[in-house]
Order: sequence, then C-alpha cells, then structure tokens
Amino acid sequence: MSDQTQPQHEAIVIGAGVAGIYQMYKLQELGIDATVLEAADGPGGTWYWNRYPGARFDSESYTYGYSFSKELLGEWEWSEHFAGQPETLRYLNHVVDKFDLRRHMQFGCKVQGASFDEQNCYWTVNLEDGRKLTTRFLLTAIGMLSAATMPKIEGVDSFEGDSWHTYYWPHEPVDLAGKRVAVVGTGATGVQVIAEIADKVGELTVFQRRPNWCAPLHNDRIDERTQAEIKATYDEIFELCRRSPGGFIHAPDQRKFRDVPEEERLALWQKLYETPGFSKWMSNFIDVGIDPEANAEYSAFIANKIRERVHDPITAEKLIPKDHGFGTRRVPLETRYFEAYNRDNVHLIDINETPIERITPKGIRTSYQEFEFDLIIYATGFDAITGAFDRINFTGPGGLPLRDKWSQSPDTFLGVQTAGFPNLLMLSGPQGGSVSTNYPRGIETSVNWISDLLTYMREHGYRRVEAQAQAEQEWRQHVQEMYQFQLMSKIKSWMTGYNSNVEDHDRIRFMIYPGGAPRYRQRLSEVAQNGYEGFSLS
Ligand code: NAP
Repeated sequence: MSDQTQPQHEAIVIGAGVAGIYQMYKLQELGIDATVLEAADGPGGTWYWNRYPGARFDSESYTYGYSFSKELLGEWEWSEHFAGQPETLRYLNHVVDKFDLRRHMQFGCKVQGASFDEQNCYWTVNLEDGRKLTTRFLLTAIGMLSAATMPKIEGVDSFEGDSWHTYYWPHEPVDLAGKRVAVVGTGATGVQVIAEIADKVGELTVFQRRPNWCAPLHNDRIDERTQAEIKATYDEIFELCRRSPGGFIHAPDQRKFRDVPEEERLALWQKLYETPGFSKWMSNFIDVGIDPEANAEYSAFIANKIRERVHDPITAEKLIPKDHGFGTRRVPLETRYFEAYNRDNVHLIDINETPIERITPKGIRTSYQEFEFDLIIYATGFDAITGAFDRINFTGPGGLPLRDKWSQSPDTFLGVQTAGFPNLLMLSGPQGGSVSTNYPRGIETSVNWISDLLTYMREHGYRRVEAQAQAEQEWRQHVQEMYQFQLMSKIKSWMTGYNSNVEDHDRIRFMIYPGGAPRYRQRLSEVAQNGYEGFSLS
C-alpha cells in the first residue's frame, strides 16, 4: 500500500513549452523529483501547435533562445534573424534531448483539474485518461496564448469545406493552390498568414473587424560572419535584453517627443521603420506610448507609410487603424503584408460596413453578399493568459474554483501565486512580468525565481507556500497604477484581457505587468531577499 499522506511527486509541471522545458531543466538540476504533463504529443507549446503558413518570431531569434547554457548557445545556429516555426520547434526539441529532459515528460496527457488536499498538503491532478497524480508543488507552464478561441458567429460548425483555427493548423502539408480561401482576423497571426499565402492561393478574402498598426519585420538570413558575431556577443545581447523594459535588444530613446525638432524626429522614425524587428515600437521616444499627441504624430507617420504601400486609397484607409494609436495594441510585424492587397486575387472585407451574418455550408454570408470558399482560416486569437487556467478546474483548499476567484479580476501576487491556492506556482500568471516581455527572457526570470523559492523552502524545511491576500491586493493596485500611465490601458486587446468571443471577457481586465522587466525583477528580488515577504511559508 502506498502512503497516502505523501505525494507521488515533489513537483508536477503542466506544459512542455518554452517555460515547462526550462522549468524541468532546473528541477532536474536541483534534484527535485518532477514530471511534466503535456497535452500534445511532443514538446514545444506554442511552437508545437501554431504551424500555420508564415508563423515565425517577431523577436530576434538570438534573443529568443535560452541563455542558461553557454554550450547550447555555442552550438545552435539560427538560420534567420526571425526564425520560422519549424526551426523553433526543432530548437526546443534539441534542448529537450540535449539535457535529457524527455524522460521526465509525459505526452498526450491532458490535465482536467487539480484540487488541493489541505490535510496532506499536496495537489491531486486529474488527467483526462482517468489517472490521478499527486504532487507537493504544482507548477503551471500552460502558456499565455494557448486557449484558442473561435469566433462567436452563427453557423461556424456548418461549413462543409476545411476550416481551422490557426493554432490547430494541420500537421500534414495543406495544398492551397487554386483554393478560394477566407481569413477571419487581422492580428499578428492573421497578418502573417495573409502575407504568406496571398500568392499561393486562388482567391483570398480577408474579413477584417479592426485593423492593426503593422510595420515591417525586415527579416533576413544570418550569414556566417554575423553568426560568429552573435555567438561572440551573447553576453552583451542578453545584457541589452535585461536592461530593456520588454526584454528585447530594443530600448526606448530616453528623449521626449517634444524635445526633438521635427526634422530630427522624422529622421528617427524613418530609421526605425527601416530597422528590423520591434525597433519601431520599442526604440521610439520615451513618451510615444504615454502622450496622446506624440502617439498621434507617430501614428500619422505610420499611416502615411501604409498609404504609400497600398495602391488603392480606399483599401489603404481601411487598413489604417482609426480607433487606437500605434503600439497601444500588440504591433504585428509583417513581410509584404500591405503589398498583398495590391494583388488582384486578394480582397478586403471590412465587416464593420458589411457584418458577417453567418457561416454557411458553402462559405460566409455578410449583410451584402454570400461568399463561397474551399477553406476558412480563423485567425481569431486567444483567451489570453487566464484562458488556459480557466480550462483546468483548479480548486483550492475550501473547494473554491480558481476561475470563480478570478471572475472579477485575475489577481495574483507578482503573477506567481494567487491567495487561496497554496503550492500552485505560475510561470506566466496574470499580472506577472513574463507575460509582458520577450517570452523566454521573462520566463527565465520566473523559472529562476520559483526554483530559488523551492530551494529556500527545502533548506528551511517548509512544505507550504501561499501568497498573502494583503500582498495580492497591494500588487493589484500597483499593476493598475502602472496601467494608468499607458495609452494602451483604455484599448481593447488581449493585452488588456479583452476577447469578444468569451463570455465576460469582452471588457478590459488588467492582465499583464506593464511596468517593465527591470522594475519587475527588482520587486521579485526584494521579496526574496526579505525572506519571501508577502508569502506565508509553513
Ligand atoms: P489577436 O491579436 O487577438 O487577433 C485576433 C483577430 O481576430 C483580431 O483581428 C480580431 O478582431 C479578430 N476577431 C476575433 N473575433 C472575431 C469575430 N468574432 N469576428 C471577426 N473578427 C474577429 O490574435 P492573434 O493574431 O492570434 O495574436 C495573438 C498574439 O499572439 C499576438 O498579439 C502575439 O503576441 C502572439 N503572436 C506572435 C507572433 C510572433 O511572434 N510573430 C505571431 C502571431 C501571434 P478585433 O481586433 O476587432 O478584436
């Protein structure tokens, strides 16, 4: 008979994506008995699922890889400045094999729920296959954009052709040649798909609700010399990322927009537009995301770029956001996205003018016209951050479901724990810092911090940790204060917890830590230095 008072594992990690892989590496290093439960049949998380055409980083590849192993950095060669999904998935598999982590991972394991046993101080994890596993600590590495959402449109299931959410793109090659294809959604995903398939399909019809401020990615292959330079300067690259608010090599220009003469301002903006990656968002004047006038001027500059690139002026106007300024939603980076609309086979439908009435067996019916398609691609996004938690029935000691606790506000302390859920440790929890940065950079912070906490607990003989309600309240207030300064705080997007397709999420919720990575890390280390103040350890 097994001893029911003792859990089977010291730690269970849910998810084998970027976060789960590194967390398992650290647990293995610390000699903590752990297993990773992953619903997919392989590691990779986001990069396992999102196999749609055009899926690639908007982060420089060499800032996206893990920084923890010099050997790994020395041996892995990214082929492009912004790598595509297949390469990233290969990379993550390589990491798993290199550090012998696969033996700790169970694939095809979908977690349905988990409940905390107060008496024995452990979590019981229920799997879809009927198994129950127990663990002292339950670590969620369930991703921030992993709960894909289909649009709430009548008739979605009635379509007789192929249709997929981009997240569930088939693993087998899809023949697009000559096909009549619809794309619903123009976020970062839709923008990548549209640009990639425009010249590969027969007809492409894009259904756009709100346009986004897209800007050029400027991807390129990494030549041998640059490859050597990257390898020789990894320390500097990661130091730049560490110092920047977003965990990128791009840091804000500390000058204020008004302090710079117009000519110089325009010269900087032109340079940023020509520079690869997120420079045009993150290397801008410090107040462009805060000062409405600065933001309006910059938005006007980008609008003119769109007008220059799209031949038809009516289409160009439809592609220019009018309801929000540049950078107040996540900026999609693109390669020849706007040029796609210059093609005769690409059609843009503004569904504010002619709303979608329903999906029909043959295609999509708007208030103006019925369209027939062979394939409908739903690039309609995610129930971000809390969505993945809501899909697992976490219940605390008193039986309180986490989704009920978070129904009004997804409150946490530091994004790491939420009061009332002991020993549940979140790697990318709401209001945390890892969800607002270049993901692996933020994740390394979270994993390292949580691993230190586990070490501290082991050294001090503690087996229970819980965020204090008071600390959580103060953190929520701090997060809200940080939001106040930002223009993005009033704009509906996944970064403000908005999703029109999920009940009760069609409103603004404070979901990410908007104060920047350095400030977040500073708070984390203060808490640790003060004996994990704000947490009850016993
Ligand atoms: P998203 O930004 O939330 O975009 C979803 C799109 O679908 C929006 O255009 C939205 O319109 C539209 N939509 C949703 N429901 C609809 C409905 N019922 N009817 C019509 N349109 C509807 O999602 P995403 O594009 O998948 O991107 C999510 C995040 O994933 C990105 O912001 C980024 O962080 C990450 N991502 C990263 C990369 C990369 O690194 N390169 C690539 C792709 C995605 P509204 O805007 O009107 O709501």
